[in-house]
Amino acid sequence: MDCVFCNIVAGKIPSKKVYENETAVAFLDINPRNPGHTLVIPKKHYQTILDMPDDEAGRLFEVVKKVAVAAKKGTEAEGISIVQSNGPAAGQIVPHVHFHVIPRFRNEGPIGLESVLPNKRMDETTMDKIAESIKSGFVQQKESGEVENTEESKEDEEINFDF
Ligand code: 5GP
Ligand code: ZN
Repeated sequence: MDCVFCNIVAGKIPSKKVYENETAVAFLDINPRNPGHTLVIPKKHYQTILDMPDDEAGRLFEVVKKVAVAAKKGTEAEGISIVQSNGPAAGQIVPHVHFHVIPRFRNEGPIGLESVLPNKRMDETTMDKIAESIKSGFVQQKESGEVENTEESKEDEEINFDF
């Protein structure tokens, strides 16, 4: 498959690598939004985080956290944004899972989620309906067998969904 990030993993496209382990690679984004803007990707190709087995997604996030700590120390940033998009509707351009780890500085202003997605005010009844629809998503996930039958997911069965 002709995937730009698979080619980076294979060393066919050069990158400024800052970290690597058996499952993940971290390298500088070619169009940095700030100094130290780093991408963390799994070595194995998955289009979105939703396609990844839970344990692989967990191991990937461990690397994201390590990179965030290193980038904050290394760039003397005052904050770190971690951004991850799944699917074109969410703004994902490169279809290989990646986390953006972006050092942030106080003088650039508090640019957060609000600048990407403006607030959509909703009434209490609508919020209740939305919470119910997400809870039904958990049930559908279980029924379709998408949840792996690990020790942790057995424990999950005892979770009651009152938030
Ligand atoms: P997305 O918009 O899919 O979340 O982000 C994709 C990111 O990948 C963009 O920030 C873009 O600059 C970065 N990118 C795309 N192609 C390359 C490349 O060949 N090398 C590196 N280092 N970054 C890339
Ligand atoms: Zn790929």
